[in-house]
Amino acid sequence: MIVFNLSCKDCNTYFEGWFASAKSCDSQIKKNMVKCVTCSSSRITKELSRPNVGVKSDHDLNIEKVLTELKKKVREVKKFVQENCDYVGDQFAYEARRIHYDNSKKKPIYGSTSKSELINLKEEGINVSTIPWIEDEN
Ligand SMILES: [Zn+2]
Repeated sequence: MIVFNLSCKDCNTYFEGWFASAKSCDSQIKKNMVKCVTCSSSRITKELSRPNVGVKSDHDLNIEKVLTELKKKVREVKKFVQENCDYVGDQFAYEARRIHYDNSKKKPIYGSTSKSELINLKEEGINVSTIPWIEDEN
């Protein structure tokens, strides 16, 4: 079923009509089978059905917007981490363990590690999380 916006030429009422297809809508209007909901006139016009055209472009636009927002958020997280945590590079697993097992040296760190090391760390009960990382814009 497709919904079309219809309008009455006699009283300018706008209403919606459900049809099996655009073709069926056109032919029912032509055969005066579609009546105005207000004045029962059969002089009905099918309005340009914007929804079908609009939905796709809106959707594309939203994805673009969401991605931009997401990149912005990721950059914010990155900035926060860089300002508040010590960078340990690829020594992350080593440093995370050292901090975990030596309570006197608790400090936030960030760096990189392999996926399997990450699983090991989590299994050892070490509190680590993965965040998306993004390169700075040039
Ligand atoms: Zn009417």
